[in-house]
Amino acid sequence: MKCHYCKGRMESGKTSYTIDRKGYLLVINEVPALICQQCGEPYFNEEEVEMIQNLIKDVDKKSTQLHQIAV
Ligand SMILES: [Zn+2]
Repeated sequence: MKCHYCKGRMESGKTSYTIDRKGYLLVINEVPALICQQCGEPYFNEEEVEMIQNLIKDVDKKSTQLHQIAV
C-alpha cells in the first residue's frame, strides 16, 4: 500500500486520532495505523474506524446530555 497523497511508503505505527466536533474536542492517543513515512498521513483500518465511530456516537449522546443540563 502506498500513500494516497504523496505515494510515499507506509509503515505500521501509532498515531493520535483527533475528533473535532461541535461541543467537544476528543483526542485518542496511540491508535494503531499505517503511517506515511513521507508526509505523515495516517491510515486506519476499517475495524478501528468503526470503533472510533461508535465512540463518537456515545460521546455525542453524552455530551448532548451534558450541554442540556440547566444551570
Ligand atoms: Zn504521504
